[in-house]
Amino acid sequence: MAPPIDIETARRLVLDSIDPLAAENVALADALGRVLAAPVVSAAEVPPFVSSAMDGYALAAGDSGRLAVAGESRAGHPFGGSVEPGSAVTISTGAVAPKGAGAVVPVEDVQEEPGFVTVPAVVEGSNLRGAGEDVRAGQQVVDAGAVVTPPGLGVLASIGMTEVSVAAKPRVALMATGDELVAPGTPLGPGQIYSSNGPVLAALVGAAGATAVLAEDVPDTEQGTAAALARGLETADVVCVSGGVSVGPHDHVKSAFAELDAREVFWRVALRPGKPTWFGVAEVDGRRVWCFGLPGNPVSAIVCFQLFVRPALRALQGADPAAARVSVELTAPVQRMPGRTHAVRCRLGAGPGGWLATPTGPQGSHQLTSMLDAGALALVPPGEGELPAGTVVEAELLD
Ligand code: AMP
Ligand code: MG
Repeated sequence: MAPPIDIETARRLVLDSIDPLAAENVALADALGRVLAAPVVSAAEVPPFVSSAMDGYALAAGDSGRLAVAGESRAGHPFGGSVEPGSAVTISTGAVAPKGAGAVVPVEDVQEEPGFVTVPAVVEGSNLRGAGEDVRAGQQVVDAGAVVTPPGLGVLASIGMTEVSVAAKPRVALMATGDELVAPGTPLGPGQIYSSNGPVLAALVGAAGATAVLAEDVPDTEQGTAAALARGLETADVVCVSGGVSVGPHDHVKSAFAELDAREVFWRVALRPGKPTWFGVAEVDGRRVWCFGLPGNPVSAIVCFQLFVRPALRALQGADPAAARVSVELTAPVQRMPGRTHAVRCRLGAGPGGWLATPTGPQGSHQLTSMLDAGALALVPPGEGELPAGTVVEAELLD
């Protein structure tokens, strides 16, 4: 049996095997969370014209004192004429600055009377917004690989886009193995538990920008496992199985993948929780399918999804696969693991010198509630004994 490999090597092996998926066009309304397949360059200037930053009066450069009000420029309804010296034009925020306007005086700073307005002296250019101050024509506003965020949607709308080219969403087949598993809603029989990995993994798949196209419960038999995995290989870009990947007599995932000609890339990572993690690739009708066998324990499944599957799903979309990493100071001692990185789920807080990480409590891989409120996985390097409070370690942020 080959020794377990470290997290970084495992992650590199996963990422080295990835070919990004094809692009597709989607309507802007459907683009939230999608990854842009090409950079977006604006043909237009935003704003498209010189406009007012305030409700007030537009006047000629250097003008002040009592001015005749010549008309109004409202948002969406420009003033037809120009501002002549000795006159002013009532103007609203966002309205076109009339020809000849050298500044806008806010309404709060003027004295109004019918047909006239008295204004103080103002600096030329005050309260005028230049055309293209937000986006210049020809400017690249977003990079390929960027995830479309709510403000990103706004920027794309502001330059007049109706659709964008994005990476196809990876299709993921989720399989939960285990004869003991039942879905909530059914009373538990002897030895049974409710399956939590199904809903957790489906949610994590969605959060990574992918789609769960299949969600199956799989019995602990060689035949049942192989049949389910075959369905997954046929329908999905990624097959993600939980449980059944260890060395027990009822663990059939590795042998079933082997039977289906999925080539093992690695099995076992020097990680706690998550040591039995398996990864392989299969070729199905000329398509590549990435196959993950995650340990069944609920915390292990989440940790391994975060460290290996999420980066793969992001890379398949051409996005940056790396989760954000920060240095954190431990507020309590943590146990080191001989030969394995200990992924300790932590609550994050701000300290005077940077991030503070407090372990969420008992760290058993079956204790799913220890993931509640966990903002990060502190990656405690392999070793003996305890790492004392105050030690600084790297942590990967959870989304
Ligand atoms: P396994 O990796 O199949 O040996 O499972 C390890 C542990 O995780 C066992 O205690 C299983 O009962 C538990 N487990 C496996 N799958 C799930 C699941 N979908 N939901 C909750 N617990 C699970
Ligand atoms: Mg099992």
